[in-house]
Amino acid sequence: MARKTTKQRNEELVKIGKKLRHYGLKLRLEPSVQQKQAIHQNIGNARFTFNFYLSEKREVYQLTKQTLTYNEFKKAFNGLKDHPYFSWLAKSDKFALECAMEQVDDAFNRFFKGQNKFPKFKSKHHSEQSYSTKETNGNIKLDVENQTVQLPKIGKVKARVSKKYRKLYLENGVDGKIKSATVKYHSSGHYSISLKMEKIIDLEDNPDFSIVPESQVIGLDLGLHHFLIDSNGKKIENPKFLTKSLKKLSKLQRRLKNKKIGSHNYKKLQKKVSKLHLNIANQRKDFLHQTSRKIVNENQVIILEDLNIKGMIKNKRLSRSIADVGWGKFKTFVTYKAEWENKKVVIIDRFFPSTKECNGCKEKNVLLSLSDRTWVCPNCGKEHDRDINAAANIKEEGIRIVKLELPMHFLPQELRSVPVS
Ligand SMILES: [Zn+2]
Repeated sequence: MARKTTKQRNEELVKIGKKLRHYGLKLRLEPSVQQKQAIHQNIGNARFTFNFYLSEKREVYQLTKQTLTYNEFKKAFNGLKDHPYFSWLAKSDKFALECAMEQVDDAFNRFFKGQNKFPKFKSKHHSEQSYSTKETNGNIKLDVENQTVQLPKIGKVKARVSKKYRKLYLENGVDGKIKSATVKYHSSGHYSISLKMEKIIDLEDNPDFSIVPESQVIGLDLGLHHFLIDSNGKKIENPKFLTKSLKKLSKLQRRLKNKKIGSHNYKKLQKKVSKLHLNIANQRKDFLHQTSRKIVNENQVIILEDLNIKGMIKNKRLSRSIADVGWGKFKTFVTYKAEWENKKVVIIDRFFPSTKECNGCKEKNVLLSLSDRTWVCPNCGKEHDRDINAAANIKEEGIRIVKLELPMHFLPQELRSVPVS
């Protein structure tokens, strides 16, 4: 029997005035030596399964132009598991292997929809290695009080549950049901787990956003110099976490070059580089969480521009700064935080001329160049700060769209797929 998709289940729930809400819970894990071995066995076996299914699928397609299906492969694969030569496959969590096969199917589906490149083999040399597994008959359990997570074939692993969550738990119990888990190993030596939680919530009536007062609506212009400029004229500096650590990073990398590959010192230094990368990523994530939280708390409708981030990252000169600033993550955070609180995010078209239009008289200033930080409208004489004017235009365009009441599916795909509610 095919699994019901979230969409199908939501369609059923809507009839009784409910809907699904998914959210993630990420915890640091502190596995014992034995548990570490078991985790790496699962990671390795899941990778093997992924790569094996992928290569079989490719070969079958090349030879016959037919699609090898999940069920066909699984049947053959289970036969293989009984062979003594592949006995190590039976040592791992069988759901981890199923998840790996599902990931191949997902990757192909996304490829055929044009959302992804052709699926690639998984390498064991990435700094982050992981496997996913599914909850079935209570095989994954979170014990908040004792701070452990029980995992199939691994047992109870020590986990770090934040004080805040423990307090919430004491008051309300675990909020939702565990659906699946992804266990990650980072080459800096850290282990973590992401639990996908699901709960069924009441379907609230969607507020009418077209009548929200304008003081509750904000337009955001994202940039490199300033991280963001809002339509109220507020500017937030770009914290440039990567740029700030770049000196340290390149120093470490230079030292790494002089070490013999694979030597003890090489590995030690490699771990240091990994740790620094992780540190930069965490700092950035904290900043993005705090900034998005504040904006969602203070506003009902949030309007952003749909930036072509992928296209911009192809520009070599800019790519590092753009990756460092984290616009994509920021949009994702704002979008799901707003969804949770029944607020609205509007993404306006990237071709909307937010910069060149005068917010006063709507005349387009075709002479405006990239270096003009402030300008005076040749038509009405109004003085503009380039970015504040853009944010004000973004806000106005967003209000226009909200009044037209365009449905949510106008959101770009990468944003729609995040809040599953
Ligand atoms: Zn003007």
